Amino acid sequence: MSLHDDTFGPDWQDRAACGSDPESFFDPKRADEALAICARCEVREPCAAYADANDEQFGIWGGVVRGFMPSGGNRRGWSERRAG
Ligand code: SF4
Repeated sequence: MSLHDDTFGPDWQDRAACGSDPESFFDPKRADEALAICARCEVREPCAAYADANDEQFGIWGGVVRGFMPSGGNRRGWSERRAG
């Protein structure tokens, strides 16, 4: 899928369920909250494609935890988590 997939259009970010609270998507303490938002988001596919295309290493994208900035040096347990 391209970033401008015909199904969702180039303005998919306007339909992001996380639009009003993006900070929770980069905070490991709020990961459950963020994943619950992703679970009901209609643009998970283009979001994940965007993260892949931009090699996003940190945060939650498309309902998948890609990683968090290590604050204690330990990110184990986060990388396999998914919404829904
Ligand atoms: S899938 Fe999750 S991170 Fe992506 S736009 Fe939707 S709510 Fe935001």
